[in-house]
Amino acid sequence: MFTDSHCHLTFPEFADQMPAIRAAMAAAQVDRALCICTKLEEFDDVQALAARYDNFWASVGVHPDNEDIAEPTLDDLVRRAALPKVVAIGETGLDYYQMEERKGGRTIADMEWQRERFRVHIRAAQQTGKPLVIHTREASADTLAILKEEGEDGTGGAAGGVFHCFTETAEVARAALDLGFYISFSGILTFKKAQDIRDVATFVPLDRMLIETDSPYLAPVPYRGKTNNPSYVPFVARQIAELRQIPVEAVAQATSTNFETLFSSVNA
Ligand SMILES: [Zn+2]
Ligand SMILES: [Zn+2]
Repeated sequence: MFTDSHCHLTFPEFADQMPAIRAAMAAAQVDRALCICTKLEEFDDVQALAARYDNFWASVGVHPDNEDIAEPTLDDLVRRAALPKVVAIGETGLDYYQMEERKGGRTIADMEWQRERFRVHIRAAQQTGKPLVIHTREASADTLAILKEEGEDGTGGAAGGVFHCFTETAEVARAALDLGFYISFSGILTFKKAQDIRDVATFVPLDRMLIETDSPYLAPVPYRGKTNNPSYVPFVARQIAELRQIPVEAVAQATSTNFETLFSSVNA
């Protein structure tokens, strides 16, 4: 019934946990999960996990926060995207959050390497026809500008994709929707202080919305602070159902159908 469109199941938190996680997913009617890659060094594990289980898929990409790792070329991404069960390019994008603390006092002007890495991912998505999984934090103007510059305007030739773990404003959501992108909501939606994001989740059309856990991070209430896993994605769906006053089954159905429509190679 439910689909977790974004999780990281190869992180150390989950070593030897797969049977327990899969049992919990089955009990919670979470039928599918997209396992997201954050650096080339972990890709083999992510792809192997997807190859091993029918209802797991994989992405290939390098997260904008990752440094001191292999910098992906267009060819690195395109070659890996052709492997079985790889249905998406990412996660990729821009992250300007807490520059002072997290980027050692460097400025946004110094983040040209992030922007260039993002462009390489967009070109790989267009070349392979596999959609983008976009991570953007405090960088929405540049994210949208680069997408447009690279031809991501929802027309032919554009790869499209999803803005994952959405925490931006309603205006940014509208701009992303206008470019043909989907919006994915995480457990943040259940956090007390997240009224702004709940407002966004109330207006984004149901046929353009995905849900995710971003496991092991961001466990939804009532598990906030614990290690997240895909079996908790129904809490995100329930929050959306409550906001929109529709049955949770309707949210599960729509977000699962959207997942198949966007990542169409899951049906290959
Ligand atoms: Zn992310
Ligand atoms: Zn992620």
